[in-house]
Amino acid sequence: MNAPAHPEHTLPPSAVTAAAPASAAVPLLLPQLIAALGADSVSRDAGRLTVLSHDVYRQGGLPLAVVRPRDVATLQAAVRLCAAAGVAMVPRGGGASYTDGYLLPAGGHVVFDLGGLDHIEVDAAHAVVTVGAGVTWATLRERLAGLGLRTPFWGPFSGLAATVGGSVSQNAISHGSAGHGISAQSVLSLDVVLASGELLGTGISSATRHFGPDMTGLFTGDCGALGLKAAIRLPLIAVRSQFDTLSFAFPDFARFHETLRLAALEGLEDEQFGLDKALSQGQIGKQEGLGSKLAIALKVFRSAPSATAGVRQLLRMLAAGHRVLSSGEYMAHFIVEGANMAEVQAKAARLRELALARGFEIANSVPGFVRAMPFAPLTNILGPKGERWVPVHGILPHADVPAFHAALHDFRTRHHEAMARLGVWMGTMFATVSSTGLLYEIALYWPEAPAAYHEAVLGAEHLRAVPGHAPNAAASALVDLLKEELIELYARHGAAHFQIGRAYPYAQRLDPAARALLSALKQTLDPQGLMNPGALGLEG
Ligand SMILES: Cc1cc2nc3c(=O)[nH]c(=O)nc-3n(C[C@H](O)[C@H](O)[C@H](O)COP(=O)(O)OP(=O)(O)OC[C@H]3O[C@@H](n4cnc5c(N)ncnc54)[C@H](O)[C@@H]3O)c2cc1C
Repeated sequence: MNAPAHPEHTLPPSAVTAAAPASAAVPLLLPQLIAALGADSVSRDAGRLTVLSHDVYRQGGLPLAVVRPRDVATLQAAVRLCAAAGVAMVPRGGGASYTDGYLLPAGGHVVFDLGGLDHIEVDAAHAVVTVGAGVTWATLRERLAGLGLRTPFWGPFSGLAATVGGSVSQNAISHGSAGHGISAQSVLSLDVVLASGELLGTGISSATRHFGPDMTGLFTGDCGALGLKAAIRLPLIAVRSQFDTLSFAFPDFARFHETLRLAALEGLEDEQFGLDKALSQGQIGKQEGLGSKLAIALKVFRSAPSATAGVRQLLRMLAAGHRVLSSGEYMAHFIVEGANMAEVQAKAARLRELALARGFEIANSVPGFVRAMPFAPLTNILGPKGERWVPVHGILPHADVPAFHAALHDFRTRHHEAMARLGVWMGTMFATVSSTGLLYEIALYWPEAPAAYHEAVLGAEHLRAVPGHAPNAAASALVDLLKEELIELYARHGAAHFQIGRAYPYAQRLDPAARALLSALKQTLDPQGLMNPGALGLEG
C-alpha cells in the first residue's frame, strides 16, 4: 500500500503530527500488545496506518499502531494495556464514514480495527441475533436470508463495508428505515468494552430493550466516545417477499417534499429516498459497462417475487433506459412490501394517489437497482468522473425544510463563481426520518487526486478505469470551506445529525443540564479521556 503522494485534504497540519503520549509506559506498549494479541493482530506498517487513519473525506494523524482483536477477551486485554499506558483508543469499523469519527488529529493513539469481531449467533426461538461489532450488514443479511429472517433496519447502502458496530455507533439510515426507523431503533442491547477494559452489558431481558431507563440508547450514536461496542443484539422479523418499486418525478422541490412527507405520515413504504436531477444523472452515469448491466439485470430478476414479475421489471427498466433520470427536477423512489400482493398493491395505489396529485410516474429502474443490489460496491466514494466526494447532511423538521431550501439556494448563488472556476459541483439526496424529519443531504464533488484510502477500497484497476485528477489544493480548500459553512447553515435551521464524529456540533448544542450529565457520564466511564477523545465534542 502506498502512502499518499501529497498531504492533500488533511486535518490541520499542526494537529496531524503524531505526538507521542508522555507516559513512560508507551515504549512498552507495542511489545505488550503483541504478546497479548499476537504479532498478526498488531500492525505498524506505514501504508496500513495511513489507509486506516483516512476516512472517505480526509487524512487524520498517524496512530502508533493498529490492533485487530479477534474476540472480546483480546479486545479487553488491548484496552487495559492502552489504558495503563495512557494512550488514546480509536475504534474503526468498516471505515465508510466521512466525519472524522475515527480520525484523531493529534495522532499518537492506537486504532482498534474491530472487523475481527465477526461472530453471528442466531436465536430464532427468541427472535434475536447477536453479532460481533465487526460484522458487515451484507454478511448479516446473507446469513439471515436463508432463514426467511431479517433485522428491521437492515443496513446503509455502504453495507458491503459498513459494520453493525459502526452504524450503531453513529446512527445510520436506509434499508428498512421508512418502515422501522434508523439503526439505533433496531438494537435490543449492547455489550460495550469501557476504557477500563470492563465489559458492560446494557440489556436485562431479550424480550424488550425498554426496561427502565434506556441504557442501550446511551451508547447508540456515541461515535465510540463512551466505549467500544463488542457485540450487538438485534430483533428478528420475517422477510416479506412480496414487494413493488415505484418512482415519481416532480417539477419542483415543494411538491416533491410534500409527497415524501405525506407518504411518511401514512407509513406506506418500507424504504424511500429522493434525488435531485444532478445526483440522479451522476449516480446512473456510473452504471456503465455491459458486465455491470448484465450483473444488475440478473440480480433484478433473481430478487423479483416471481419469474413473471422479474421479466416485467426488466422490461420496464429496459424501456426507461437513462431517460428516467432527466424526467423532472426531483425524483422520489419507493419500495413497498407486504405479506401478499394485495397488501403491496393497496399501498402502491395509495402512494400513486399522493404522488400523482403533485408529479408524474416514471419507470422504476432506480429502486429496482437498489432492491436487487442493496449493497453496491463502494464506487460512489468517488464521483461519476473520478472526482472526490463528501456528503454533508442535516435532519430538518418538515416545517423548517422550505426555509433551509431557500437558504441553500442563496448559498449556491453566493459560491457559484468560485465553484464553477474550481470545478466543484453538488447534488442533493433526501429521505424522511419517521413522520417528523427530512434528511437533506448535500453531496460535494471536486477534482482532486484520490488518496491511498481510495485505492485500498476500490483497487488500482478501478482507479485506472475512471478519469484521474491531479492534486488540487485550491479545490480541496474550497470544499473544506463549503462544508463548514453548510454545517453552520444546518445548525441555524435547527437540524440534527447522524454520524456526528468530529464534524458536527453536538455537545455545545445540548441543554446545559443535559450536557453536564453527559460530561459526568463520560468522566465516570473514561476518567482519563482516552476513549475516542474529541468525538461528539465532549472535551470542548
Ligand atoms: C458509498 C457509501 C454509501 C453510504 N450510504 C449510507 C447510507 O445509506 N446510510 C447511512 O446512514 N450512511 C451511509 N454511509 C455512511 C457510512 O457508511 C455509514 O454511516 C456506516 O454506518 C459506517 O459504518 P462503518 O462500520 O464504516 O463505521 P466507521 O466509519 O468505521 O466508524 C464510524 C464511527 O463509529 C465509531 N465506531 C466504529 N465501530 C465502533 C465500535 N465497534 N464501537 C464504538 N465505536 C465504533 C468510529 O470511531 C466512528 O466514529 C455511506 C457511505 C458510503 C461510502
